[in-house]
Amino acid sequence: MKTFIAPVVAIAGLLTAGYANAYTTYGCGSGSAKWSGTSKTIYANRASFPVGSGLESALYDAIARLNDNASNFTFNLVIDSYPPSLNNGYSEIWIENISPPGVTSLWWNGSCNLTEIDIRMDSSVTWTTSTSKTTQTNYGGTGRPFQTTLLHELGHGIGLGHEADEYNIMGQDWDHVSTNGESAYAYFGEDADDGAVFLYGGDGTQDVGVVHWRYTGASGEYSSHDRTRLLDPSTLAELPYSWVNGEKRYNVNRGQSVRVELTFENNGNDYQYEDTGYYVSTNSTISTIDTLLTTRSIGLSPDNVLTSAWNVTIPGNLNCSTAYWIGAVIDKDYSLVEYNSWNNATYIPIYTNFDFSCLFIFPGDITL
Ligand SMILES: [Zn+2]
Repeated sequence: MKTFIAPVVAIAGLLTAGYANAYTTYGCGSGSAKWSGTSKTIYANRASFPVGSGLESALYDAIARLNDNASNFTFNLVIDSYPPSLNNGYSEIWIENISPPGVTSLWWNGSCNLTEIDIRMDSSVTWTTSTSKTTQTNYGGTGRPFQTTLLHELGHGIGLGHEADEYNIMGQDWDHVSTNGESAYAYFGEDADDGAVFLYGGDGTQDVGVVHWRYTGASGEYSSHDRTRLLDPSTLAELPYSWVNGEKRYNVNRGQSVRVELTFENNGNDYQYEDTGYYVSTNSTISTIDTLLTTRSIGLSPDNVLTSAWNVTIPGNLNCSTAYWIGAVIDKDYSLVEYNSWNNATYIPIYTNFDFSCLFIFPGDITL
């Protein structure tokens, strides 16, 4: 029996990439360690996840997001009061005082089949279990999202290693979220889905999404992420911004052409070619009822996260010195049957500068 410990802060070697710029798995012989079947029961400890607590709902969230994955694999969650321990023949999740935010321990047998995985979450971390974005450090809050870290650990639990080559949950987890309006959700994402399909085969489901996060480089075994940007179309320089509630808000002129950078993902099984609408909104919830600026068709294969910028023109009839949100909706015509549609839109905050044109009063603006 082999024992392999994969803490969130460091794991050594033993990783084999499926191919460049993609998920990693735990190498075992010439293949990868994985569960022999496509369903496994995992036991969470009731003392760690009290009835009706935020932690309990965050646990359900993370399991559901793992089970969204594009492969056939699912975890069956059972919450019980049996004292958890490492290497007792049961796969378990509990919370205790450990130094990393999360640790997953894996055991597999001589046939490279996983026999047990145990996930320990650190009780000393300042977690948020809320999907309200302003509770999260990414958006001016103080908590690390419990769901993103547990989902990262669950990724280890199906056989995925760390990944530093593209934007993905198996790199930095806390800034791998899908945000629109006031909510920021953990999600498995394209690269981890691709890895799950490699290990367990595809389930035939489809899902596309767009987020305002992007890959910025590697931090050891982990991908680093930062926000997508608003750029000058000619110089590709980032436009001026100020920080508002932990987010960059870009200063733009009415009538200005800007380049909107966003990250598009195919979290499903098959290639998709989708109509994407770019919108401007008076609030941070981007939807198809907002003002459409332009449309674009995007081809997405399920194995290469696409961060891509597109030119739009800030409408000349916006109010001056006013906050707006620019953003995109992928599959804006709802043509694709998806397992999640809450991840189809996101935003970038903007603020309209006061310029010379703001001094003019047009006849339509005068109320007599
Ligand atoms: Zn990890």
